[in-house]
Amino acid sequence: MNTLRNIPAIDEILLDPRVKKIEESVSRELVVKKLREVVENTRTMLRNDNVSLSRLEITDMVVTKLQQELNRVTKPTLNKVINATGVVLHTNLGRALLAPPAVQYLTEIAGAYVNLEIDLDTGERGSRYVHVEDLLINITGAEAALVVNNNAAAVLLVLNTMANGRDVIVSRGQLVEIGGSFRIPEVMKASGARLVEVGTTNKTYLRDYEEAIDENTALLLTVHPSNYRILGFTSEVTLEELAELGRKTGLPVVQDLGSGVLCDLKEWGLPGEPTVKECIARGADVVTFSGDKLLGGPQAGIIVGKRQHVEAMKRNQLTRALRVDKLTIAALEATLVEYLAGKPNRTIPTLQMLTVDEDTLHDRAQRLCGILTESIGATSPVKTIQVVRTEDRVGGGAYPTHGLPGFAVEVTFEDGVLTNIARALRLGEPAILTRLRDNAMLFSVRTLLEGDYDLIATRMREIVKG
Ligand SMILES: *Cc1c(COP(=O)(O)O)cnc(C)c1O
Repeated sequence: MNTLRNIPAIDEILLDPRVKKIEESVSRELVVKKLREVVENTRTMLRNDNVSLSRLEITDMVVTKLQQELNRVTKPTLNKVINATGVVLHTNLGRALLAPPAVQYLTEIAGAYVNLEIDLDTGERGSRYVHVEDLLINITGAEAALVVNNNAAAVLLVLNTMANGRDVIVSRGQLVEIGGSFRIPEVMKASGARLVEVGTTNKTYLRDYEEAIDENTALLLTVHPSNYRILGFTSEVTLEELAELGRKTGLPVVQDLGSGVLCDLKEWGLPGEPTVKECIARGADVVTFSGDKLLGGPQAGIIVGKRQHVEAMKRNQLTRALRVDKLTIAALEATLVEYLAGKPNRTIPTLQMLTVDEDTLHDRAQRLCGILTESIGATSPVKTIQVVRTEDRVGGGAYPTHGLPGFAVEVTFEDGVLTNIARALRLGEPAILTRLRDNAMLFSVRTLLEGDYDLIATRMREIVKG
């Protein structure tokens, strides 16, 4: 009990030179708030632990804890992570990395005034939506385009604009849920449209749509299954057939493409994904897709299609709530320019990682293997380090059944330490995410960046030797 009396008053601790020093870089308000918390915790601890400490010892302890706590709260929690998982579009790791030209452009734009909503020709108020529109029209062949916060927002806006209070017909095989709680039936409800399910999980025919159409029908929706495949005895109506039905009945056809590729990935062994341009050419009236999936740009929801529909969306009040900022527009414009320049797979990291050849991956794995062997080779608890084949993934809900043949460095350890080492790697700076397989740790090289190799070796040495 005596010890509790030795706890100095807040005002007294605030006069300590070390605390005065802290106040040079942290606001007094925060210092006082955190100091109160630390003192309160210290009081509880002293009461429970039954130790006796002097006034000086308690002050030292409080100041040290205050410093630690302020260090913790005054730095960002969003940090760089090294992705050694081999999943290119890892939603939990922020999906696409921006292309260097986009990063460069962002740094120029971010700290400057920009012509976001001014027509420099007339000096009058302009629209933020004009900026990416021409690029998207030129790339996709659509009449008009609009960009919002993400693809979930794009689908919401399309449905709310075109089908509020009316019916939207969707195949039962396409009622998808995308990670992070995007569910077609829920989005439909939020938009004010009514979902009319047709067909069955594995088979939907054109006549199912035909029979469901009545005077309440607003549009026909087709959704990319993205993260799943229905295999075996299956049937879905093609976009061409749906577009034909739409023309006959005067109903627009909307396609939620999800990933939305802008260039054909066939030649790199990723077949079967129609480009946005092909979807428009095949008769979709409106197509929505993400900016940060296979496109390889910033998070955004892109809507392209018939002018009359896109103009109606621009006038919708919801658009104001879903709008993108200048940073997104800048990053998206700079990314799209790379598509118009030809060869987007040379500069856009997502496409680079998806199209890199196996020889290059093997060379990189050899290099990482060499560096790791040198730094932690014959060190307990490491047992073996070697190059192995892996199956990497596209991620981001694209190509769910399609592995990418790749290479990794496999490290094995003595019994019982694997998960601890994986945890230490995650908690370090920078955090490193690996894949664990059969009691081994895999560093897949497909998703590593230039500087990552040495950082991995350094962190592994610290963990293994520490
Ligand atoms: C990913 C995806 C979405 C959601 O897109 P976000 O950009 O993550 O909001 C919607 N529909 C489909 C089919 C998708 O694949």
